[in-house]
Amino acid sequence: MIDTSNKEIQSHYDFIVVGAGAAGSVLAAELSASGAQVLVIESGGSDDAPTIMNPSIWFYNVGGPLDYHLPITPLPQLNNRKFNMALGHVLGGGTSINAMVWMRGMQRDFDGWAKNGAKGWAFADVLPVFKQQEDWEGGANEWRGSGGPIHSAGQKILTQRRQSSLKPPARWACPSWMT
Ligand SMILES: Cc1cc2nc3c(=O)[nH]c(=O)nc-3n(C[C@H](O)[C@H](O)[C@H](O)COP(=O)(O)OP(=O)(O)OC[C@H]3O[C@@H](n4cnc5c(N)ncnc54)[C@H](O)[C@@H]3O)c2cc1C
Repeated sequence: MIDTSNKEIQSHYDFIVVGAGAAGSVLAAELSASGAQVLVIESGGSDDAPTIMNPSIWFYNVGGPLDYHLPITPLPQLNNRKFNMALGHVLGGGTSINAMVWMRGMQRDFDGWAKNGAKGWAFADVLPVFKQQEDWEGGANEWRGSGGPIHSAGQKILTQRRQSSLKPPARWACPSWMT
């Protein structure tokens, strides 16, 4: 989709970002904020579909026209199952069609990567970045951030089943911010 309604396409740009999904949009915004001229190219269409505007029906997007629906080569590690991988094909990419669950990886995974040489990827390194991204409805604390670009909130309507599924079993030993 090419949208020239706001600005004329120029002959030169400092950066061209291909894909306006989660990563591409953030990158383009950060580069633009630095004063650079940025062109974003997105192959999907507009993000104003009713199934995007109403997040409670997000799952209708899976397998629909806003999903690349990529066939996966069966692998023994996935029990040779045949299925299609959902990937957003629309402005916003996966973020436009996803379930809006805000979660982070396990502390021990990040620390494992750092231990194996991924410098700067320990949990203590990434936690400030996660907090910086977030605008948690309950305000900042040891685990959560406020004032960031992504507003996060607890689910407002909880069925009894959902309530119990949100409570992780004690054996998981989850930190308090997950419960
Ligand atoms: C159905 C679904 C539910 C999900 N639920 C959750 C959830 O609840 N919580 C969560 O944290 N994550 C969820 N995810 C995952 C999350 O949305 C993705 O991890 C995230 O969007 C990936 O970001 P990305 O920038 O790597 O790619 P994407 O967001 O997929 O962005 C890639 C973009 O590039 C575009 N593109 C691709 N090829 C080209 C090309 N050649 N030229 C131009 N543009 C191109 C695509 O159209 C797309 O817009 C879900 C994903 C899906 C699909």
